[in-house]
Amino acid sequence: MTAPASPSYAALRKHLRETATLASVGSLLAWDQETYMPAGGAAHRAEQQAMVAALAHQRATDRKVADLLAACESDGAVMADARSAANVREARREYDRATKLPESLVAEFSRTCSLAQEAWKEARQRSDFGHFAPWLEKVMALTRRKAECYGAPPGGELYDAMLDQYEPGMRAAQVEAIFGPLRKRLAALVSRIAAAPRRPGDRLLSLKAPAAQQQAFGEAVLAAMGFDLKAGRLDTTAHPFCESIGPGDTRLTTRYTTDSFLEPLFGTMHEAGHGLYEQGLPKAEHFGEPLADSISLGVHESQSRMWENFVGRSREFWTWALPVARRCLSPLLDQVTVDEIYGAANVVEPSHIRVEADEATYNLHIMLRFGLEREMVAGSLAIKDLPGEWNRRFKDLLGIDVPDDRRGCLQDVHWSFGLVGYFPTYTLGNLYAAQMWEKINADLPGLRAGMARGEFAPLKHWLNEKVHAHGRRYKASELCEVVTGSPLSADPLLRHLEGKLAPLYGL
Ligand code: ZN
Repeated sequence: MTAPASPSYAALRKHLRETATLASVGSLLAWDQETYMPAGGAAHRAEQQAMVAALAHQRATDRKVADLLAACESDGAVMADARSAANVREARREYDRATKLPESLVAEFSRTCSLAQEAWKEARQRSDFGHFAPWLEKVMALTRRKAECYGAPPGGELYDAMLDQYEPGMRAAQVEAIFGPLRKRLAALVSRIAAAPRRPGDRLLSLKAPAAQQQAFGEAVLAAMGFDLKAGRLDTTAHPFCESIGPGDTRLTTRYTTDSFLEPLFGTMHEAGHGLYEQGLPKAEHFGEPLADSISLGVHESQSRMWENFVGRSREFWTWALPVARRCLSPLLDQVTVDEIYGAANVVEPSHIRVEADEATYNLHIMLRFGLEREMVAGSLAIKDLPGEWNRRFKDLLGIDVPDDRRGCLQDVHWSFGLVGYFPTYTLGNLYAAQMWEKINADLPGLRAGMARGEFAPLKHWLNEKVHAHGRRYKASELCEVVTGSPLSADPLLRHLEGKLAPLYGL
């Protein structure tokens, strides 16, 4: 694919690539902070992060970008090509957003969040919300200032301006319109399961395995999924994530609890799903341009959920993976059958920690956070009231008490990072994944049989071609229609959950 021969378009691409190169230094600093940085480095790291963020912001908001964009927008050849037109459209969107924030606010936000993360780590360890509260107060105040700079859309609310960073075009009211009915049907399913005549055994959920053995198994699964370990890494952190540094460098982290080997595996597969998306984007040619960037966090999450839930919790996956796991975790699984491990992977049980939640209750955890952060941004929920409100609503939604803040409102890293408006994208990801999965199985009728033989390449290639190759050429809602033929709906996810869980629970 050759780009239109416009000097302005070429200069725009070069500028975007260089800005992304600078920003990727910040990504590397962030990755290091979570993996190997000693605690004593926190204050200096905050200065480094603030400086890189300010420099990247300067470049992204340079007047020159406005001139280049204007020149491209009036160049018929550039705008006649669907791919370069999408690049210009999305670069315009980013420029307009970036120029709405003063540089001083960007630097203050970065510095505050870096320190807030350190406070959160300590608060979580000690289960002491009071230690984190003043920092959350600061992060939320700065978040509101950012949202005010972006401005609420007509007829919308301040929270929409935050959500729009992660899921462009989506509004809080639309999210609520999807979440409302989903909550009803999910809650009904979860309560039918609670009263079910039989349950899969959960003995395997507490099988202990040394971290080194778990890592060996995780790496074998990564290789089968097609994650390129020569262009990526797998390390351990308190909270698993995927950080894309640049072309040829996509880093995953996971955590190995010693009281279960399944949960860390699903965490690894989840992050690897994100990593495959990053590795599948056309970065060699387009790094830094929207054409090599992911569409939205919801679409990103659809890729991780696809591998974690639709692959990792399937009977076919375990038909292949059990013998591999037996070798890596020997002699732990010598007596275990595929049925037993498939059942254990699909146990539904309300629990406290979002990242450990099963596929059915997971979305209830998201609805809780969405409601709370929406109210914190609006100012109708005071920070000091967060733990109490969290615990009360958690009990309402999931039917169990929260024993302490470590297993309550301190469990997630997001708010300390200033990631407000981010949580709903997890559930949107589940919905996109389910809808794509139905289409994938229609397109590839032999997929499931192949998975039982460890053949995951057809799935990876389908995703590479239908989703990854486009970068941000389409909006999330358009991609959903282009790829699956219909607009986003909650029905495929509910069909998937009911279809899988009904036989396991004898419903
Ligand atoms: Zn994810």
